[in-house]
Amino acid sequence: MVGSLGIRPQPFKSMMTNLQQEHADLQEEHAALQAKYSADTKALKERVAQLETRVAHKSEDEERQVFHRGVAFRAGPKTRGQWMPFCPKCGLVVNDVALASGDRWATCSGNCGWGGGPLETDMTSVIAEIEMKKT
Ligand SMILES: [Zn+2]
Repeated sequence: MVGSLGIRPQPFKSMMTNLQQEHADLQEEHAALQAKYSADTKALKERVAQLETRVAHKSEDEERQVFHRGVAFRAGPKTRGQWMPFCPKCGLVVNDVALASGDRWATCSGNCGWGGGPLETDMTSVIAEIEMKKT
């Protein structure tokens, strides 16, 4: 049967079948896009977590130095991120020694001539002071 415009009218059933097929195709496409979106989101979340971990450990990768109570304290890869005292003159490790008076004195382990300095407390407490100033 040919209509007045010369176009064969599509039977209703055939039109419905086409629409159902189109709907099924769109659903499939939607599912594929959603799967890709989920995968992309997962990859991005993993990347963000990696970067956050790197930022959190940045302070351990970087050599830092502060002067406190006349002693050079360094923290970095060589000290495994821990603050350690070093001689401000020669750079060797500083020890804290107990004087006869009971006071503690920072002294160079290399006897380089640096006079050292008085510590009102032990080195662990002095390092804790640095940690407190950092925050
Ligand atoms: Zn020294």
